[in-house]
Amino acid sequence: MMEGKADRKTFFTQALLQWHTTHHRPLPWKGEKDPYLIWLSEIILQQTRVEQGLPYFEKFKAKYPTVKYLAAAPEDEVMKMWEGLGYYSRARNMHAAAKYIAHELAGVFPKKYEGIRALKGVGDYTAAAIAAFAFDLPHAVVDGNVYRVLSRYFGVEEPVDTTAGKKQFAHLAQELLDVRQPGRFNQAIMDFGAGQCTPAAPKCASCPLQPNCSAFHQNKVDSLPVKSKKLERRQRFFNYLVINQQGNVFIKKRTEKDIWRNLYDFPLIETDRLVEGKNGLEGNAIWQAWLGSSNYQLLQVSPPFRQELTHQQIVARFWEIEVDGSFKAGEASWVKCGRQNLQDFAFPKVIVLYLKEKSLPLELF
Ligand code: SF4
Repeated sequence: MMEGKADRKTFFTQALLQWHTTHHRPLPWKGEKDPYLIWLSEIILQQTRVEQGLPYFEKFKAKYPTVKYLAAAPEDEVMKMWEGLGYYSRARNMHAAAKYIAHELAGVFPKKYEGIRALKGVGDYTAAAIAAFAFDLPHAVVDGNVYRVLSRYFGVEEPVDTTAGKKQFAHLAQELLDVRQPGRFNQAIMDFGAGQCTPAAPKCASCPLQPNCSAFHQNKVDSLPVKSKKLERRQRFFNYLVINQQGNVFIKKRTEKDIWRNLYDFPLIETDRLVEGKNGLEGNAIWQAWLGSSNYQLLQVSPPFRQELTHQQIVARFWEIEVDGSFKAGEASWVKCGRQNLQDFAFPKVIVLYLKEKSLPLELF
């Protein structure tokens, strides 16, 4: 049964909403009307799976029940709460937006799409989700789930990662939106993409959209949606110096315009390839500047630890060094931290993995 264009759209919306009556996923933020909590859940879920994001949502909600609590929190505390979730600019932007709402908008969350969209870290998708869920405004969400479902059902071969493609899908989603229940429609299409029309092995056999699904009938399920670019990851090689001095370790805050801004890490020497051999870094000019004139002992070099980011792969080695009491920090930004206090700071995942493996801060060597 492949129907005419208009009928296929009506069928889509009706079948989707019908499907949702029996298939919705019960999650703590579902049915939520508080825009602050919806915003919190949406920011956490950007780039994060629900299972991973759920405990963070609960933790943030308990500690910062309103936007004013979040605005009043110290930045280091917010970053620490976010530790392990990745894409830390989300936490920084969220904190900045909370301050803006608390101080400039008297703590009142914006109620219109434009006002929500103007908040730091809020893009089209998140603004539409908050507008629809909290205020029943007729804005359709468009994310990876929506691209997949629409491209398959309607057989759209326009790449989803081009400006033209994004426009086309946004327009289509908006046409399909049931304006009487925008929140429910948005939830339904996202749940459908997450549970039925999944990236790999979609459940076409039990799919209520199947009678009119282009991809299914034309055997294109695996080739849709289309992407124009293949993701290329740049490899970066980080050599972290874990400099121990009488039970303390030197750490520093990452303030430069780079990944992990405002997180902490160890003094870092970046190289253009993996450094091999225990003494492989000792000829490096930065190593010489920091350690050359000191009395140090190089104890151990870790195997490479890896962390995948969207556009980069970080390969990190940890150089465990002991220095005597006369050693002076190589840069003013270094902070001496008791090993037992390392857990108070927010570190990128690759360092957390290393610390876990070494059972730091309990026992370093
Ligand atoms: S039939 Fe398959 S490809 Fe088409 S919408 Fe349903 S699950 Fe997705």
